[in-house]
Amino acid sequence: MRVEKTKENLQRCLCMSCPSYTMGCKLKAMPENMVKMFEDFDKLDHFECMFCAFDKSHCIEQDRGCICAKCQNYKDYNLNHEDYCIKTGGI
Ligand code: SF4
Ligand code: SF4
Repeated sequence: MRVEKTKENLQRCLCMSCPSYTMGCKLKAMPENMVKMFEDFDKLDHFECMFCAFDKSHCIEQDRGCICAKCQNYKDYNLNHEDYCIKTGGI
């Protein structure tokens, strides 16, 4: 099941703590993410976090240790892939 694009689910996402989400990518994504937080979240096509609900990242390219399996969304939505930031739908 696709993870719903809600702010509650975003709060549970661990991507921001993941080693794959480099500081460079976080800094690059921050301004756009901040603006999008005030938009209708479930209407967004892309967001630089919670990649299982959106498409892949526009910045992250390398798996440095995906922690999706520890995420509550992963458990609640019965996800079975990882690296959603690298490939849309996960690997
Ligand atoms: S499963 Fe992974 S991509 Fe999805 S919300 Fe959790 S940490 Fe983020
Ligand atoms: S999808 Fe996995 S590898 Fe990518 S940032 Fe999120 S936790 Fe890290």
